[in-house]
Amino acid sequence: MAWNLFGRKKANGFERSRKAVREAGGGETLPVQDTRAAIEELSQVVKNDPEAVEIYLALGSLYRSQGEIERAIQIRNSLILRPGLDREFKARALFELGRDFRRAGFLDRAEKAFLESRSHGHDVTAIHYEMARLAAERGNYEKAAESYGQLGLPLPQAHYLVRLAMDYFEEGNDSQAHRALRHAIRAYPGAVEAWLEQMIQAYKSGSERKLADILRNALDNVAPELRFVLLEGLLQTLDRAERERALPAGDEAAWTHACADEAVTKALLPVIDSQEPDVLLLYYGAAFLLRVGDEENAKMWLEKALVMHPDFWLARLELFELSRPDQTLTPFFKEQLSFFMDRARKINRFFCRRCGLKRDQLFFNCPRCRSWHSIAFRTDFTQ
Ligand SMILES: [Zn+2]
Repeated sequence: MAWNLFGRKKANGFERSRKAVREAGGGETLPVQDTRAAIEELSQVVKNDPEAVEIYLALGSLYRSQGEIERAIQIRNSLILRPGLDREFKARALFELGRDFRRAGFLDRAEKAFLESRSHGHDVTAIHYEMARLAAERGNYEKAAESYGQLGLPLPQAHYLVRLAMDYFEEGNDSQAHRALRHAIRAYPGAVEAWLEQMIQAYKSGSERKLADILRNALDNVAPELRFVLLEGLLQTLDRAERERALPAGDEAAWTHACADEAVTKALLPVIDSQEPDVLLLYYGAAFLLRVGDEENAKMWLEKALVMHPDFWLARLELFELSRPDQTLTPFFKEQLSFFMDRARKINRFFCRRCGLKRDQLFFNCPRCRSWHSIAFRTDFTQ
């Protein structure tokens, strides 16, 4: 680690290290222990050299990365109030203060700090980006989408157009909602969330043929490693419809016209089958078949998936489960087996390709490292 660079007065190495520190504030690039060590070393440097404004700023960002927001805010404020502070540094301290406030959930104060930072001459694009994030966090998806569009970032633009569409659907404003979804796909054809939402709407409206058409189109446009999200998302919707229909006081009205499971499976399987063989597509095909009780065909699809990828544990588990009734087991053996099967089913199936976060729910923006579309399926235990 090159933290001792902070001890030198040379600008270049300094700039490089500061950048590394700032990046630590935004993501997960440093393990916690390294960050703690950096904080201690920097605190020592600051004690010896109170004029070191850059180091103060970096230290604040490190505190923020550790969730110590109050300390981060204190550092920015002590800088901002420092008499005779260079205008550029003041602008930067205000900018970082805005990010601290956003992180702490004080969105109004964050906005105020960003605006002040801009009036002190801070980079306009960086502020525009922060304002887009603020709009998104406030639930103002229209504004967020517009800002990301202006910034030339079509992926988050499309994502927030989908969120906007979901709000419109909620309000019963279906035509605006569909318009927003089409806009999302035009802006970013790989927007898996937009295709998925279109599929869900087709399912709800009872048109399995439309659902199959959208899936076919989506499979052509979405990145291959994200295609499973379409099928996982649809399966979760089928589950949700089933749950809500079963509840006495459920929201069953929303699903009155929804397609029957058999119709969905019958319409989707030929589309999946027409694709280049893919282990996850085969697995999800089997999942749809299992949903309608077609165990024979499900077995075939799972076996094909295993031929492609013998380490795919979940396909193996399903096959194993399917052959269980054929086995004569002692009660002891049965009990042990149930225990392991139960545990295996609780394993988080998805992970973030960027930071490794493991989840069992779909995500489009990693909750930890904030990467977009970095979700992947854990086809291997080693992932
Ligand atoms: Zn991540």
